[in-house]
Amino acid sequence: MSREECAELDAADPLAALRAEFELPGGVVYLAGNSLGALPKAAAERVGEMVREEWGRGLVGSWNAAGWFDLPRAAGDRIAPLIGAAPGEVVVGDSTSVNVFKVVAAALGLRPGRRVILSDLDNFPTDRYMIEGAAGALGPYEIRDVTAATLAGALDADVAAVVLSEVDYRTGARYDMAETTRLVQDAGAIMIWDLCHSAGALPVELNACGVDFAVGCTYKYLNGGPGSPAFVFAASRHLAEARQPLSGWHGHAAPFAFEPSYRPAEGATRFLVGTPPVLSYGGLMASLDLWEKADIADVRAKSVSLTSLFIRLVEERCPELELVSPRDPERRGSQVAFRHAEGYAIVRAAIDRGVVGDFRAPDILRFGFAPLYVSHTDVWDAADVLADVFETGAWRDPAYARRLAVT
Ligand SMILES: *Cc1c(COP(=O)(O)O)cnc(C)c1O
Repeated sequence: MSREECAELDAADPLAALRAEFELPGGVVYLAGNSLGALPKAAAERVGEMVREEWGRGLVGSWNAAGWFDLPRAAGDRIAPLIGAAPGEVVVGDSTSVNVFKVVAAALGLRPGRRVILSDLDNFPTDRYMIEGAAGALGPYEIRDVTAATLAGALDADVAAVVLSEVDYRTGARYDMAETTRLVQDAGAIMIWDLCHSAGALPVELNACGVDFAVGCTYKYLNGGPGSPAFVFAASRHLAEARQPLSGWHGHAAPFAFEPSYRPAEGATRFLVGTPPVLSYGGLMASLDLWEKADIADVRAKSVSLTSLFIRLVEERCPELELVSPRDPERRGSQVAFRHAEGYAIVRAAIDRGVVGDFRAPDILRFGFAPLYVSHTDVWDAADVLADVFETGAWRDPAYARRLAVT
């Protein structure tokens, strides 16, 4: 595959026009959109306008006039179609970590008498930490670790909830959501999916799969901006009964009645807690405008094309790197991971040469492919830079061995 052939693929790409909607620095191939999505040009405009007009001129009246109060629901309803949810089932607020706590608590409440929570050993650590916190605060509950291979054998009548990430943050390996959800629910347990590496990366069909609860962040493939608030999904069949213990006033049935006691709001609103970080919704809402121009089936097709091409080029040109992600595109998300003992130094050397990936301990080089703004020629250039890092031994520079605070 030549760079010219990659350019031909880009010329036929139905998403190609969206790249111009992003502010991408020149000379950079950005393959860390699975960590922090790129800046949509309209997001910068939108946040500026919110600051100057809505905050500066509208002041406190903007809670009504500018729709600030409804942002968590409005953003949720716009994310819903991207994850196969219905209006009213998704709200946006807090972080994924906090939302894991809420949905685990809700799940435990729906399965009284069951004392076990299952989680993937390879799940993102914050999910595991939050499950530990919930189990301690609400329990005691026992946490058992599973893998995709051991899950079926671990399901028994004691299991209240199962918490899994659809796409593994390190390897990009993807669970079969439909099959796994069925397995878990057949055992009488509640299925909770973390969609941090799924939302905006591939089609998700929460309701078609009968999922109970889901959470996910908006600052990765959804491009909502650094620290933009996370989403939480609760299937409508659970909305009347599900309770979560972070019973703040924005989840109250009548927040401005200032009643002395908590009464949960109807619908997914009961998963909200306190005052939303209004400015952080600005970037997200502008980014969601772009998602209305993208067909998620095109996004997935391009993602498979980009990741498959990257695997092929890197394996041809950098035999030192061992593929960690599943080779079968059906079994992986929108990222590719390789293993190398000196992975950290290699990633740093590539970043200095304009190819931004990241490193995950102990030895994983991780490259995310955000189909809205990454092209096939980007993939070619990234593989070329990696090959150069090996050929020249550039990664051996001792400066690249020193770990920065954020890897
Ligand atoms: C990125 C990510 C998170 C991040 O959680 P925050 O609360 O936003 O820090 C959580 N879980 C998974 C699986 C992730 O990939």
